[in-house]
Amino acid sequence: MSDDNPRRQAFVGIGSNLDNPAGQVARAMLALQELPRTDLAARSSLYRSAPLGPVKQPDFVNAVAQLDTGLDAAELLRRLQAIERRHGRERAERWGPRVIDLDLLVYADEVIDAAGLTVPHPGIAERNFVLLPLQEIAPDLIIPGLGKVADIGVNSEEPRISRID
Ligand code: ATP
Ligand code: CA
Ligand code: CA
Repeated sequence: MSDDNPRRQAFVGIGSNLDNPAGQVARAMLALQELPRTDLAARSSLYRSAPLGPVKQPDFVNAVAQLDTGLDAAELLRRLQAIERRHGRERAERWGPRVIDLDLLVYADEVIDAAGLTVPHPGIAERNFVLLPLQEIAPDLIIPGLGKVADIGVNSEEPRISRID
């Protein structure tokens, strides 16, 4: 098979709050590294955040990975969902606890508004647990519709996030 797709830059948000969350995030990073035609170009530190929404549940561990990938956005999302399933994600309530969540945050300069895929991911600017790790590894990234990552202000209404060293 030919492998002449150009490599594109993609960012993936990773979150877990069940079954050793830091270990789950590390395992997800390894799985991303193993994706076909894909290199893990950068990884953020781990961040701890309080859960969003009404459900009482453990804190999350979050991180962001930067990929260089020959997969297109739809194929990458399918692969992310396959990793989630393989790592024991059960589709339950939205906002509920989960062993692993992989969101496609940014795919090159593409803007996608399809039934199962919105890119850039709509939560980036409101969610410090996405924004802070992204600012750590890609401050100069320009996100369609949002501008330069370093210039996006943190959400002061959602302050409870700390970097885990
Ligand atoms: P949120 O998307 O607000 O972070 P969530 O991660 O809890 O919420 P999920 O239950 O993991 O939501 O996914 C719900 C649906 O979102 C998936 O079926 C998927 O098709 C869709 N989706 C749309 N855009 C994206 C994206 N950029 N990355 C991941 N999933 C997406
Ligand atoms: Ca999510
Ligand atoms: Ca998700």
